Amino acid sequence: MDAEVTIFDKIVAGQIKANIVYQDDLCLAFHDVNPQAPVHILLIPKQRNGLSQLSKAQEHNKEILGHLLFTVTKIVELVDELKNGFRIVINDGENGGQSVWHLHIHIIGGEQLTWPPGSSGNQKK
Ligand code: 5GP
Repeated sequence: MDAEVTIFDKIVAGQIKANIVYQDDLCLAFHDVNPQAPVHILLIPKQRNGLSQLSKAQEHNKEILGHLLFTVTKIVELVDELKNGFRIVINDGENGGQSVWHLHIHIIGGEQLTWPPGSSGNQKK
């Protein structure tokens, strides 16, 4: 059983509007409401099916996980600003900064991205 309904379930159901970039039977991609780069797209499975976060994945989720990664390439074909490169991010759990408990891939680009991504600066020496 999945946990409570999230904002992404409401977007899939059309109860909350989103700026949709791509969809098929299994997944939906839409622009993030609070973009962190010129292009910031979220890609989600339409059915959460236990995937509240990546670390909850089970054998039966393998197909959708592959489908999501493959779908990233379709989205890149559709969005010119991603053609020079992009980054995908999956935040997992509290330390990962996850805030919506429905697996999602951030697709970020449209400018030169910096590396490494954020940390508190408390790296082990
Ligand atoms: P997380 O922090 O869980 O990795 O990412 C959740 C993302 O969902 C955030 O980047 C946040 O801006 C985005 N988000 C939250 N609520 C909405 C919404 O109602 N619509 C859209 N398009 N994005 C949302």
